Amino acid sequence: MTDTPAGPVSQLADALLQVLSENLPKDLRWQWMLLMIALALGIWVMRNGHGAKGADGRERKTGLTAFLLPQDIYTHRSARVDVLLYVFERCLHPLWAGGAFLAIAPSVEGSVIGALQSVAGTGPALAPTLPWMLLFSLVALLAYDFVFYCIHLAEHRIPALWAIHKVHHSAEVLTPLTRYREHVLEGPLYAAGAALSAGVAGGIFGWLFPGGITQATLFGAGFFGLLLGFNGAFRHYHVGFHYPAWLSRWLHSPVMHHVHHSYLPHHIDKNMAAVTSLWDRAFGTLYIPVKDEFTPWGLGPEAQEECRGFRQNLLAPFRDWSRMMRGPSASL
Ligand SMILES: [Zn+2]
Ligand SMILES: [Zn+2]
Repeated sequence: MTDTPAGPVSQLADALLQVLSENLPKDLRWQWMLLMIALALGIWVMRNGHGAKGADGRERKTGLTAFLLPQDIYTHRSARVDVLLYVFERCLHPLWAGGAFLAIAPSVEGSVIGALQSVAGTGPALAPTLPWMLLFSLVALLAYDFVFYCIHLAEHRIPALWAIHKVHHSAEVLTPLTRYREHVLEGPLYAAGAALSAGVAGGIFGWLFPGGITQATLFGAGFFGLLLGFNGAFRHYHVGFHYPAWLSRWLHSPVMHHVHHSYLPHHIDKNMAAVTSLWDRAFGTLYIPVKDEFTPWGLGPEAQEECRGFRQNLLAPFRDWSRMMRGPSASL
């Protein structure tokens, strides 16, 4: 028996599948998905069927299947566009994600070490004990969260950048893939930001610990990376995961990102950070929602019309930039 030679289409499909499986984000792997389903199940039991939102962003009581996988959300056009944008973004992800890190992080780290040496001389050559490793993880996390906050705020405030970021906000329903629903031009911005923050934290600790230091881990995974992963995974899910109000003042609960995706005027430009509430609190953009607060998702009835389909979203920045260059009369 001979194998049928693979044609170009199936070769392309194989290559695409390989790229996608190699670049599957952690929070879409089965362990995270299982954790998410287990937590959602817990909420369903404890709240007697309450706690999940429908495609309209309103909380409602449902049976278990509709609670975990509501039909109005997963058959929504927005959820299909999530898939297409995800595939597109993941295929291009390796190009710039590795590149930005390789190009930016080591040179930033080297400059920070050099600057510290010129100001304070050689570092104290400390021994990397567990408390130091925890501190390093915390500083790295806060630096990442701060840079994320700044890039995100700029995207909301500067129209030319909003033209790129609005693709993420054009999601009319939230699914775990919505986290990766972004314009291809947005990835390099955040990759550069992540590399910059890693370089700064690495530089400071590289000066303190010339022998090197690594982040603290829990079960083999970065301790604060787990926090980031958990929040990232759950915040684009229609089930509302609230923290007590006091904790929400320190850490973003997943449901606080439901607010970020809402187009209601009092929700706009709120909760910009990735993990902690510190930067939002410091700059006055923190919004802690009440239980089951109504959060209609998307750009709002008017702006949504232009950003529904895959092609519309892909072309959105170019369309907006050309309008900006032609002046205010172009939008009339
Ligand atoms: Zn945003
Ligand atoms: Zn989001």
